[in-house]
Amino acid sequence: MTWNLSFSLVTAVMLCILLGYYALSPRLPIVLNRFFVTLAVLEMLTLASDIISTWMDMNHQDFPVWLLTAVNMVYFLLYVTRSYATYAYTISLVGTRKKMPAFYKMGGWILVSVFWLVMLSSLFTGAVFTIDQEGYHSGPLYPALYVQMFVFLILGLQVLIHFWTEIHDTAFYGILVSYAVLIAGGFFRFAFSHFLLMDTFYMLAIMILYLTIHNVDLHRESRTMLFDYQAFEQVVREHQNFGIRYYLIGFMNCNYKETRQIYGGLQMDKVLSQIGKFLRETFRSSTVYYERSGCFLVMIEEKHVQKQAVSELLAKAARRLNEPWNTEEARVYLHFVNGQMSPDLQIHSVDLELEAIRNILEKGANGEIDRDFVVDQRTIEKILREFTVKKALSDAIQKDALMVYLQPIVEASTGRIVGAEALSRMQDPGLGIIQPGEFIPLAERSGSIMQIGKQVLEKTCRFLRDHGKDLPGLEFININLSPIQCMDHELAEIFRKVPQTYGVDPVRLHLEITEESMVDPEVLRGQMELLGQYGYIFALDDYGSGYANQFRIKAYPFSGIKLDMNTVWAHFKDPDTILPNTVKAFLGRGLTVTAEGVETEEMARQLTEMGCTYLQGYYFSKPVPADAFIEYVKRNEAMDPVERDVSDRS
Ligand code: C2E
Ligand code: CA
Ligand code: CA
Repeated sequence: MTWNLSFSLVTAVMLCILLGYYALSPRLPIVLNRFFVTLAVLEMLTLASDIISTWMDMNHQDFPVWLLTAVNMVYFLLYVTRSYATYAYTISLVGTRKKMPAFYKMGGWILVSVFWLVMLSSLFTGAVFTIDQEGYHSGPLYPALYVQMFVFLILGLQVLIHFWTEIHDTAFYGILVSYAVLIAGGFFRFAFSHFLLMDTFYMLAIMILYLTIHNVDLHRESRTMLFDYQAFEQVVREHQNFGIRYYLIGFMNCNYKETRQIYGGLQMDKVLSQIGKFLRETFRSSTVYYERSGCFLVMIEEKHVQKQAVSELLAKAARRLNEPWNTEEARVYLHFVNGQMSPDLQIHSVDLELEAIRNILEKGANGEIDRDFVVDQRTIEKILREFTVKKALSDAIQKDALMVYLQPIVEASTGRIVGAEALSRMQDPGLGIIQPGEFIPLAERSGSIMQIGKQVLEKTCRFLRDHGKDLPGLEFININLSPIQCMDHELAEIFRKVPQTYGVDPVRLHLEITEESMVDPEVLRGQMELLGQYGYIFALDDYGSGYANQFRIKAYPFSGIKLDMNTVWAHFKDPDTILPNTVKAFLGRGLTVTAEGVETEEMARQLTEMGCTYLQGYYFSKPVPADAFIEYVKRNEAMDPVERDVSDRS
């Protein structure tokens, strides 16, 4: 029998080119890459043994029987091992995201051992092949070669289908096509056995895996030539799965956006590429990643270095990064801070770890970290808490489960409850009651503040619809608007529609806006004008906590001012004429003044004397759920006017 070797030779050349290119490019330190190399090398060896054994079989008269037997046996064993390696690669691909149950690995081992034994037994039984004076003959169990190949392919496919959600899209289709190619190869080999086609199909499958999964350019940032954040995520996931310990260093370029504006995009890109090169050279045995906005990440496996060496490298890199970078046209000064995470931190989930890293990078880039920063367990706990609250919040928003508490606002001159402030609360089954001071800032950052605002408005309107008639003295309810809400163009539309739906007149809704919202005066004024047309009334919240002054306030259509409670408290600690004069000035301009944080009778009395229009604070009531609020108001209304009058209480 003669075989045609021409396909095999071309295949060998192509495989060499692919492997050579792969060996010369940078690689991510993930186990999957090792499996890929193993698979490719096994394919090379199988191909070589295929060519050699076939050629020797064709010239069998020139070789002793034992040598022919040995060479053929090597080929058969490699053939089986290659099938197993394909399966092992598939498991590893899933394993980059998810820890695989042990039986998948065990099953593979058992099967490959059985097939090895079948092949080896042929030495004594001649079941798979025999060699005699006339050369090579296939035995009755020769088809076991096909069987084992299809068994491993079917098992691998089953794993792929079962875990397809764990695999990135391109990778999933890539490996699926590779499997299709191998299955087609199996049939071809069966049909045209004298062509030695299987190797060519294997080479094609490996090529597809390279293009869709192992091609470095899929995950390389073009300016820095460093791996991107997606690649980083992949490595972190895998390291967690396999328990690989590593140090992590982040270099954050503070105020990247502003710096980019000063020097221009072109210069900055040139500098980025210099920095990429510098970091690659400094951290040779580690992998460097470019996140974005001037943030770099270096991951150093613990087994490669000592702690001391990490600090030295870090110090060296930090020094250089903060020295000027020269391009042909500019001398660029950058300010970097760095963050560090040690392998000793207890971080139990990949998501939390990635969240922690993102959080620190962001803080660094925003200039919120001004010195070198070592992440300790406390920071991790804080981030974990934020992470859980964020998740609880999005659950609560989705289920419309945020609660609105009401805190009475008392008319100072009469002691009657004429209004309330709506304050949101979140009740989580696991975490208990969470205060707005914790979740509002998170909601502002994630953008969900708009939904919160809408739900608070809806619930307040519902309250007024259902109970407004029973509480004739209740003139208004205040709703808080955060600066982010004020900047959103959908705000006015939401605030127009919702009260309509509930049949509530917006005049009864007062909007509290803090001075932070004045950062973009034009937008804010536009919004207030529009909302004012619908009937809303505005109060400036937290006066005295920032830089608002009487001149700035004049430019906006506020009807009232709310004194920040710290300002109020400061006055009672060290009384002088500033607060009374401020109150007088606002009253003189026809604005109402509300004092917040009224905690004692004495405070209530003095603030009333000062002329404050409204009082709000724990002395009257904490913010309470709707039922308790209704009861409180009814009790208040039943009181004797004299009994109620705060100025007479003492
Ligand atoms: P704020 O608008 O200044 O609300 C007053 C805060 O002071 C409330 O805290 C209230 O419980 C508390 N407070 C009232 N009287 C006293 C007192 O006599 N003593 C003391 N120590 N505290 C008093 P809360 O409910 O925790 O809200 C905190 C902040 O969260 C609010 O400050 C407001 O800026 C924000 N917030 C609450 N709900 C919402 C909301 O629905 N939307 C928006 N955008 N912000 C909200
Ligand atoms: Ca408020
Ligand atoms: Ca306030």
